[in-house]
Amino acid sequence: MPKVVYPGSFDPVTNGHMNIIERCAERFEQVIVAVLVNVEKEPLFSAQERLEMLRLCCGHLPNVEVDGFSGLLVDYVRRRGADFIVKGLRAISDFESELQQALMNRRLAPEVDTLFMMTDVEYSFLSSHIVKEIARLGGAVGNLVPPAVEERLRRKLRSEG
Ligand code: ADP
Repeated sequence: MPKVVYPGSFDPVTNGHMNIIERCAERFEQVIVAVLVNVEKEPLFSAQERLEMLRLCCGHLPNVEVDGFSGLLVDYVRRRGADFIVKGLRAISDFESELQQALMNRRLAPEVDTLFMMTDVEYSFLSSHIVKEIARLGGAVGNLVPPAVEERLRRKLRSEG
């Protein structure tokens, strides 16, 4: 049974990410959720906070590990001895950039394949970006993110003023 890496910025983790993580946990021996530490854009949550939230949300999944990485994803995947990279797909619009990344990663590391998992339809509109936007405008995000994230999002935006 393979070991997979599910990478992302998770700023913050949403119910859409959790759906992919839970489905991977059922299907693979080991799942490493890999948080991209050096995100290009300024993230709302620090790497430490993003890791902490994911660890809280994945506590009930014994075969899921949450880890941080920087640098090339394929180097991290090799270092961890994983078999596949898993990516979630929401819409056709995700496809083009994911295809480009997957092809480039295979060129860099021919032994590492990327598997795509389709989102559950109820999460197809959901992204970390939209969650932050709704929360900033005072909307309710309770059904879009895990409870621990909702609480931290509220606190973070309050402290930002
Ligand atoms: P976002 O696009 O939400 O800012 P990330 O960079 O954290 O996300 O995404 C990490 C991975 O999770 C990517 O493969 C992305 O396509 C996938 N993903 C994000 N949101 C969803 C969702 N609602 N359903 C399925 N996959 C998703």
